[in-house]
Amino acid sequence: MSTVRVRIAPSPTGLFHLGSLRTALTNYLFARKEKGVFLVRVEDTDQNRLVPEAIPDMLASLKWAGLEINEGVIDCRKNVNDSSLNYTEIKKNIIQKGNFGPYIQSERLEIYRRYADELLRKKIAYPCFCRCEELDKMRKRFLKKGLPPKYDRSCLKLSDAEVKSRMVKEPFVLRLKTPLSGKTSFVDLIRGKIEIENELLDDPIIMKSDGFPTYHFAVVVDDHLMKISHVFRGEEWISSTPKHLLIYKAFGWKPPVFGHLTNILNMHGGKLSKRDGSVSIADFRQKGFLPEAIINFIALLGWNPKDNRELFSLSELIKEFDTKKLNKAAPRFDQQRLDWFGKYYLGQKSLEELSFLSAPYLQKLTDDQTLIKKIAQVQQSRMHVLGDITQDIDFVFKLPNYSSDLLIWKDTPSQIIKENLRSTLKIISDIKLSDFSLSNLEKLLMTIAGENRGSFLWPLRVALSGKQKSPSPFECAWLLGRDESIRRIEKAVSKISNF
Ligand code: GLU
Repeated sequence: MSTVRVRIAPSPTGLFHLGSLRTALTNYLFARKEKGVFLVRVEDTDQNRLVPEAIPDMLASLKWAGLEINEGVIDCRKNVNDSSLNYTEIKKNIIQKGNFGPYIQSERLEIYRRYADELLRKKIAYPCFCRCEELDKMRKRFLKKGLPPKYDRSCLKLSDAEVKSRMVKEPFVLRLKTPLSGKTSFVDLIRGKIEIENELLDDPIIMKSDGFPTYHFAVVVDDHLMKISHVFRGEEWISSTPKHLLIYKAFGWKPPVFGHLTNILNMHGGKLSKRDGSVSIADFRQKGFLPEAIINFIALLGWNPKDNRELFSLSELIKEFDTKKLNKAAPRFDQQRLDWFGKYYLGQKSLEELSFLSAPYLQKLTDDQTLIKKIAQVQQSRMHVLGDITQDIDFVFKLPNYSSDLLIWKDTPSQIIKENLRSTLKIISDIKLSDFSLSNLEKLLMTIAGENRGSFLWPLRVALSGKQKSPSPFECAWLLGRDESIRRIEKAVSKISNF
């Protein structure tokens, strides 16, 4: 059995976004490749920033993306859209699985307290009673001297008796006593050796005055107790890793292997944010990106197959995954590339699948399955996202008001336009219903148009759609059906009579 156990440890402070999915994908691919375990733990120690729907949203996003969770927080009985629920109610509906639970940090407070007590007993941790104002002054003092701000350890100078009596009367935090000399180093799987002088480290708070652990402490205790072998996480955590390593050392535990992933940047090299368009997975889903497209896109954001292949399914990604191929340079979010993947994967769908997937987007317009399938056939090559199914097809449901001028092709006299419309009307009326297929329509109408495509096909298309821009006249006629097409062409003819 593989000993590889990886995890994602999202904090439920917002919607699951592209960066979170990328971290999840990296962990997932590594776990699958090594036949290990992919675990989800919820890090909700910051009680002030909780967003109730964050956990169901994260689980829905992972499920949608096809990343199966083996252990930890694996499912939620409630729907993400039920916004009436508060965080406690949502937590009650979370399904957890595995032998190392609970997998939600707010349910593990007793465990952290026990481990913090151990460090306190060993005098590796110490209580600190300093208030915000004092700490603020301290910061300013350091900065004034041109030094990096640090805790000055004033509470470490208190006598045992004083500490004891103040601990029962005053709120306090626990801090880890970090070494003042030497170096802390680790070999990052992606970036190689990283080293920091211990004297630059502040004594990190490990337990807060509200009885909750800090992220730094809880992450170490949990990764150890949950036997996590490798940690792939965002590069924003690199500077925290030495603190984590010192906590591992304080307990005498072996740390996991770390790999810090680059962040995704926007096209201008800045931090990717809402201003750059969609970032939450819920948003991408709602627009109708297929999970295959998003997965392929983000996989290539952080990883390089070292050849020019671009298309990878999830199972191919597992086969190809290699930590040596993870990029050190931060990738940029390229919407055009994402759209390219979107179009490619929609193009791969059968008409049945595409109609099924697109139906919700057409809900307001029709529930006629035959029509939905026809629309899917006409639109497939134009779509990047499922939402594109509705683009330029509102004419099918209602002929918009249009001006008769629109029927005129360049400088063709209106009389000719009218005659051409009449000829196409005859062609369409003569087609037997059983022969009213897209290919037949195209063949017959192209034959009659001959050399004069513009003056035949333009007015026909406008007559059918009432619009400057629409699918081809054959597609319009096919979508509308014979009788409605006849009705609309007759109407156009009568419009020209009124010239
Ligand atoms: N809770 C952290 C976050 O939300 C997890 C960091 C880690 O993976 O250690 O990103």
